[in-house]
Amino acid sequence: MNIDINEIGNKGLEVEDYIELDDFYLIEDDSFFSDSVYFTMTFTNEGNGRIKAKGKVRTEVSMKCVKCLEKYENNINSKFDIVLFPMDIIDADNSALNPEELEYIFYEGDKIDIKKILQEQINFFIPMNPVCSASCKGICQNCGANLNNESCRCENTINDNNLFSNKLKR
Ligand SMILES: [Zn+2]
Ligand SMILES: [Zn+2]
Repeated sequence: MNIDINEIGNKGLEVEDYIELDDFYLIEDDSFFSDSVYFTMTFTNEGNGRIKAKGKVRTEVSMKCVKCLEKYENNINSKFDIVLFPMDIIDADNSALNPEELEYIFYEGDKIDIKKILQEQINFFIPMNPVCSASCKGICQNCGANLNNESCRCENTINDNNLFSNKLKR
């Protein structure tokens, strides 16, 4: 899904749509889209090839909790305000951009790739160590019980379990 920068008039260009994105681009392993991606984006021309993209993205990504290892739905409902730079700036002169600016998304020729922007924004809003909820109790390292759903089976028998794990090591 591409935007032609020549279509951005003085008042800017507004785009609103639902699209499907490929799970392959999600930065976290064991995660996938469980919903289509809704977005609005307003492009404005800032001059010198810089295009401003301001918008909202909303979707649902199924992720695996790092504490209890269960799948859960992560709602993404976020705003963004970014500046896009033409690829030509990079090709012509690397020093034209400072290192912070180099991290911004580039576009090639007259075309802005909306999917690429959304992929980057969604990955940006995905937590590094996803946790199903702030109160997730995780799993017992010893008996493997999911402490959110069941009580630990080794809670009152810590000594026994130590003996057991010592036996296993031998
Ligand atoms: Zn969890
Ligand atoms: Zn346990």
